[in-house]
Amino acid sequence: MYQAMCADPDDDLRRMRMVLCTGNEGKVAELRALLPPGMEIIGLAEAGIPKELPENGDTLVANALEKARFAHERCGLPCLADDTGLEVDALNGDPGVRSARYAGEAKSAAANMQRLLNEMEGATDRSARFRTVIAWVSRADEQVFEGRVEGTIALEPRGNGGFGYDPVFIPVGSTLTFAEMDVEAKNRISHRARAVEKAVAFLRSRYGVR
Ligand code: IMP
Repeated sequence: MYQAMCADPDDDLRRMRMVLCTGNEGKVAELRALLPPGMEIIGLAEAGIPKELPENGDTLVANALEKARFAHERCGLPCLADDTGLEVDALNGDPGVRSARYAGEAKSAAANMQRLLNEMEGATDRSARFRTVIAWVSRADEQVFEGRVEGTIALEPRGNGGFGYDPVFIPVGSTLTFAEMDVEAKNRISHRARAVEKAVAFLRSRYGVR
């Protein structure tokens, strides 16, 4: 267990060592790149936490908090967890918190997009948004941060970049889908980047990390 290797848990706060609660190494790398050098991210494996985290909530906030609390209780380190959903107005906010499993347990991005396009057939209102909630759970406090990006759902998938629903999401102000944009352009405006920005601002002001 990670805690066993950590002589003084307060030391982790001073150095801003924290656990990012995701089994997705891509997200760990993405967050490392967005964080200032004084903040150190470790993944679940390094913290000795199983990679299947509970996700029983029916909101993004509930799920993000559940994952961060689960990990914090097991390792004692400050933990960050995120949950993201795509909310489509014509579908009353679906797939929302069920975005990952919209077309079934296989969590297939292609099948999820196909179901979305089928459900939206004939819809004239194609407005939608990505919303990311990041939860922070430490011994001292719990916080949630939200980032969102507004846009519309394309009539068919376009582009080879990104992941998930990127080929069908056109952010406001662009004619390209997220999957047609380069990573830097997406990261400048993405829901996740905006949530991370708020989390970093909080950690800086609360803990004085540069
Ligand atoms: P998670 O909360 O990051 O697991 O994401 C939930 C669902 O939203 C999954 O189906 C992801 O593929 C999708 N998703 C999350 N972030 C993005 C994104 O930036 N672009 C496209 N799809 C995303």
